[in-house]
Amino acid sequence: MSARPLPTDVLPGRAGTPVVVARDVKRIYEIRRGAFRPPARLQAVGGVSFDVEAGRTLAVVGESGCGKSTLARVVSLLEAPSAGTLVLNGVDAVHVSPKAKRLLRRSVQMVFQNPYGSLNPRKKIGAILEAPLEINTELAPPAREERAKAMLARVGLRPEHYVRYPHMFSGGQRQRIAIARALMLNPALVVADEPVSALDVSVQAQVLNLMADLQDELGLAYLFISHDLGVVRHIAHDVLVMYLGLAMEQGPTARIFARPLHPYTQALLASVPAMAGAARVRRVPLAGELPSPLNPPHGCVFSTRCPYAIERCREERPESRPLDGRAVACHLAERFLEPPPAGAGGTGQP
Ligand code: SF4
Repeated sequence: MSARPLPTDVLPGRAGTPVVVARDVKRIYEIRRGAFRPPARLQAVGGVSFDVEAGRTLAVVGESGCGKSTLARVVSLLEAPSAGTLVLNGVDAVHVSPKAKRLLRRSVQMVFQNPYGSLNPRKKIGAILEAPLEINTELAPPAREERAKAMLARVGLRPEHYVRYPHMFSGGQRQRIAIARALMLNPALVVADEPVSALDVSVQAQVLNLMADLQDELGLAYLFISHDLGVVRHIAHDVLVMYLGLAMEQGPTARIFARPLHPYTQALLASVPAMAGAARVRRVPLAGELPSPLNPPHGCVFSTRCPYAIERCREERPESRPLDGRAVACHLAERFLEPPPAGAGGTGQP
């Protein structure tokens, strides 16, 4: 396959087309512990399955250390999965030749958290936007410039910004530039790792609205990594809640936020002031530290912090299973189908 020029306009992705199909994806690191001890296994992602279709956003949420950023790096093809299958844009991304993988990388682009560190301060915006075209296509310089300026307009910036340097822009404008750069190769999927968490709240809304508009216009699929459930509620169609590398609950955002069935999801939602008062959200306290992924709890990985844990939870790891329009990995999930009694929550009484 040779590098082909890209069309100057972008065709929208067809709604319903699967862009990411991940099945039982694992990412395991071996940690050396000296010459005479066997390496330890750190399971950063322990077997996660999900789909993302064109025009849809899947948010991956959880505390720092839950494996969400590792999952983002695997889906972005920056790291290979240790096991499982990953199909991107219809191509098996695990069993793919290095040359085909380079082409596949075009269809997956990343937007990072820090708009100050992700843009080269010595390069003008035009050069930053054109770099992906220069490397991956045979477009001539005038065509590259035309496409870069068109993309600036698309993200709400002006043609004269083409000759300016990153330090001349605000944080929100820099994130617009980072998004523009991510779109230069017409990706099907954008993996956004905490893309607005470094921005002021007022600017966050503008960047999120821009991302939503671009998704509508271009049919982009987003994998949106975030710890901010307030942001997730606004941007994501579907949500995947992770804890110690495993999926705790996943399904449509509106359904899960209206009635979380996993105690960990309940605890995350209860920590968001705007959602803590919702009738169906139990006030589950999130006490204690995240256990070490090098030594995860036996049975349910959340059992050491779960106020509802019973003996079975400490012995048997719950499988993710369908319930009430989502998948949930909790032995007691059925008990949470009913709204909590008035004033209940965080008491250990489902
Ligand atoms: Fe809590 Fe048990 Fe459910 Fe795990 S399986 S979340 S410990 S109730």
